[in-house]
Amino acid sequence: MQLKTDLYIDGKWVKGNGSVPVYDPSDGSVIAEIQTAGEKECDAAVDAAYRAFPDWAKTAPRYRAEILRKAFEIMVAEADFLAELVSKENGKVITDAKGEILYAAEFFRWFSEETVRVQGDFRKSPSGDKRILVTHQPIGVSLLITPWNFPAGMATRKIGPALAAGCTVILKPAIETPLTAMAIIDILERAGVPKGVVNLVTPTPAGPMVSRILHDSRVMNLSFTGSTEVGRVLIKEAADRVIRCSMELGGNAPFVVLDDANIDEAVKGLMLAKMRNGGAACTAANRIYVHKKIADEFTTKFAKAMSELKMAPGREAGAQLGASVSIKERDKIAQLVELSVKGGAKVETGGVMPEGPGAFYPPTVLTVDKSNEILKYEVFGPVAPIVTFENDEEAIALANDSDFGLISYVYSGELGRAIRVAEAIDSGMVAINRGMISDPAAPFGGNKQSGLGREGGFDGIHEFLQTKYIGVDI
Ligand code: NAP
Repeated sequence: MQLKTDLYIDGKWVKGNGSVPVYDPSDGSVIAEIQTAGEKECDAAVDAAYRAFPDWAKTAPRYRAEILRKAFEIMVAEADFLAELVSKENGKVITDAKGEILYAAEFFRWFSEETVRVQGDFRKSPSGDKRILVTHQPIGVSLLITPWNFPAGMATRKIGPALAAGCTVILKPAIETPLTAMAIIDILERAGVPKGVVNLVTPTPAGPMVSRILHDSRVMNLSFTGSTEVGRVLIKEAADRVIRCSMELGGNAPFVVLDDANIDEAVKGLMLAKMRNGGAACTAANRIYVHKKIADEFTTKFAKAMSELKMAPGREAGAQLGASVSIKERDKIAQLVELSVKGGAKVETGGVMPEGPGAFYPPTVLTVDKSNEILKYEVFGPVAPIVTFENDEEAIALANDSDFGLISYVYSGELGRAIRVAEAIDSGMVAINRGMISDPAAPFGGNKQSGLGREGGFDGIHEFLQTKYIGVDI
């Protein structure tokens, strides 16, 4: 498989208005130069997607399903190459990158299966003399914007349902990690996606060109994954033309360990919930609430497990924590730790930035007071602040004390108690006695300022469909 670095518009790989380098954050070296998109290229992508839409929307669901199935098969067959690419441009360790690729491919398989299962409705009106027909139709040209932390997973989680629904798309990946997105478009091309159905542009800076696309009257839908800050801006932009929005935004997940939890299992679960993707996940456990009775044992065991992780460039043998995506992102992590320590946090392990090249930050465990500033922010890195609580009600109140509500984790020895706590926490997803629950077959998404809509599961395809009611007198 050849590395793609150009824009993809109307079924062709094309040059843009300039180029920018893509870096390997583990040593700062340049991996590739990619093309950037200006007005001309962004307009051409909208033209192509708009032209392709009517024919694509009319294709048989089985036809679209088979293309997505083929894309799944190619992606799995080429998983090692793709994982290497993800690790190179993002910094994450190769095992996480491989896990991401298989997870990402699964969205093509899941939505291939969903393509042929979109249901309508046929009903008698209550008066008996009319019929109510309900059908679902593709919305139209969709703009898909993805972040750097899961460059493959966030792209397929949008492209899969969009294509399954019969929409055509313009993908705008994060500028730090465009190579994986380009490789995925290449796979879709080889799987037989007709020209114009998928397009890829990389404008930089993103704002003005994204705004231009959203103000084009031919664009009907926006699916965004990224920070709440940018999501808020885009909701306002989308409001001008009342465009449908799906928003997968930031998280600040609480991880609650009740006093009857199995401590070793909870430590194992937290290692996964905190450290998958080096802590750069919207689902990452960020606020660790542990019952006072077990807090000392839990903290000792967790800090030991964190201190034993091997931090190294992502593709080095045995690496368990890779680099952050950039020096800028790494510095944000360091600043939050500093802020926390100034506010009284005790460093149990880590907290000292290593010298040398690469955007590395070590596994860090802090014990903090419940009012510590770090708890207000999404730490996109390997930092875990631990707070103690005294009873379930306090744990629920602390977990809910956030503007975010994406995911929460609850550990308890009693399922009923865990479910009661899970139901009281305001988040779109809750993991009980598990450190990870992302699953293409389940609805992923958040409450409060963590987003609008759901991706994956049975809901995912409906983000790209609109409901039509047809009324008939008989
Ligand atoms: P980000 O800064 O919001 O960027 C996300 C995307 O938006 C990138 O493609 C970026 O392009 C683009 N963008 C930035 N500013 C823009 C603007 N003014 N107008 C239009 N587009 C703009 O987020 P990030 O740092 O890449 O990702 C981390 C965030 O994503 C975290 O908050 C994380 O929680 C969230 N996230 C959420 C989920 C979820 O499912 N809820 C999943 C993964 C990540 P450039 O790269 O070109 O700037």
